[in-house]
Amino acid sequence: MTKPYYYARIPYKELFASPSIFPPSANTLEGAVAALHEFFTSPTPRGLPASTAVLSGAGLSVASGLADYRGPNGTYRVNKSFRPIFYQEFISNHEARKRYWARSFLGWPTLEKAKPNAGHIAVADLARLGFVSGVVTQNVDSFHTKAHLSTPAVELHGYLRSVVCTSCRNELPRTPFQEELARLNPRWAEFLAEAIASGALQSESPQERRARGIRSNPDGDIDVPDAPYTTFRYPACPTCLSHPPPRPDGSEGVVEVDDDGAWQPTSSGGILKPAVIMFGESINNQVKLAADETIDGAGRLLVLATSLATYSAWRLAKKAKDRGMPIAIVNMGGVRGEDTFFKDLSPGQKGAEAVRTEILTEQLLPALVKELERSSRPSGMDGASLLSAHNGGAVFKDMLS
Ligand SMILES: [Zn+2]
Repeated sequence: MTKPYYYARIPYKELFASPSIFPPSANTLEGAVAALHEFFTSPTPRGLPASTAVLSGAGLSVASGLADYRGPNGTYRVNKSFRPIFYQEFISNHEARKRYWARSFLGWPTLEKAKPNAGHIAVADLARLGFVSGVVTQNVDSFHTKAHLSTPAVELHGYLRSVVCTSCRNELPRTPFQEELARLNPRWAEFLAEAIASGALQSESPQERRARGIRSNPDGDIDVPDAPYTTFRYPACPTCLSHPPPRPDGSEGVVEVDDDGAWQPTSSGGILKPAVIMFGESINNQVKLAADETIDGAGRLLVLATSLATYSAWRLAKKAKDRGMPIAIVNMGGVRGEDTFFKDLSPGQKGAEAVRTEILTEQLLPALVKELERSSRPSGMDGASLLSAHNGGAVFKDMLS
C-alpha cells in the first residue's frame, strides 16, 4: 500500500541543537553589534562584490505579531498537531480547499492589518546605506516589500497578497477575494465580525490569541476547533469561468458554479489558490534564478531569523558558503547544518569571516544601523561640527539625540 500524500515529510519539525556563538563576544547585544559591524565593514574575499545579501525567514515577522514555525513560541512547538496543507491535497481535494479557505478567511484580517517591524525597517536602512544589495525571503507576508520597495525582495515561497488560478495562472488581489468569500459565506462572515468585535482577533500576540481558543499559524490561517468547514464556499477563477480551460488530455473542460458563484466539484479547472508555494509544490524557475542572482551579486550573506529547515533556503546559504562568502546568522535557536557554514574560521576572528548570534532581530538590527551610521561619518567630525558643516543640519538631529 502506498502512503497517503499527506505523510510527505515536513522538514525538521524537531528542533536543531543550540548553536555555538561566533565570535564568543556576540552573546550580548553590544558584542553582536560589534561583530556585525566588523562583518559589514571588512573587505570581502578576493573577487567577491563588497555588498551583502540578506536571506530571511519567519522569525523576522514575530515582532509584527505573526507566528513562526520553529522559534521559542513557534507553531511546531506549541501546536504539536499542526500540519500545513500540501499542494497535492489542495489541488485534488475540494473538502481540503474548503477547510483551507475557511481558515484563511478568518486569518486574513489579522495579517492584512499587521505591519513590518523594526527588523524590516533596519533592513531597509541597510539597503539605503549601501550595505545590503539584495534580499531573499521565505516569508509570505510581503513585509520586506512594504519596508523597502526600492530593494525588492525575492519572495522564494510566494506571497499571500494574491490568489492565483491553478489553470490559467491569472493572479487576483487577496482583498477583493476576501470580500467574495464573505459574500458566499454570510454565516462565517458574521462569525468573523463577532470575533473581531470581541477582540479575539485583535490581540497582537499569537500566544494570547491561542489562549482565547484561536490558533493562528504562520501561513496566515486560523484554526477554530470543530468549525463546520464543509459548509464553506469559494469562488471560481472569473477568467476560467467565462473561458473554461481544456482538460490535461486536451478535451473540452468545464467550470461550473452554483447560483451565487461558488465553485462546483463538477468543474475540471478554474481553482484559485493562494500565491504561496505550498509543501510539495515546486518553486518557479524565474524565482529560483532571481534568488541565485541575489546570492551571486553579493560578497557576504546575512541570514536572518530562519532555521533554514526548507531545502530551497538552505541551498542558498550552502551556495554562499561554496562561493567563499562570509556568513552571519542571526537566529533564536539552532540552524540546519550550521557547522558546515562555520568550519575553518581563523582563531580570534572578530566577525569578518563569520558571525553567529541569538539576539532578536528587532533589537539587534536597529542598533547595528545606528552603529554603521555613526562609524561612517567623516572622520574627525563630531556631531556638532557636522551640524555646522551642513546648512540646517536637520538630517543629523536625530543622530545626536
Ligand atoms: Zn483561471
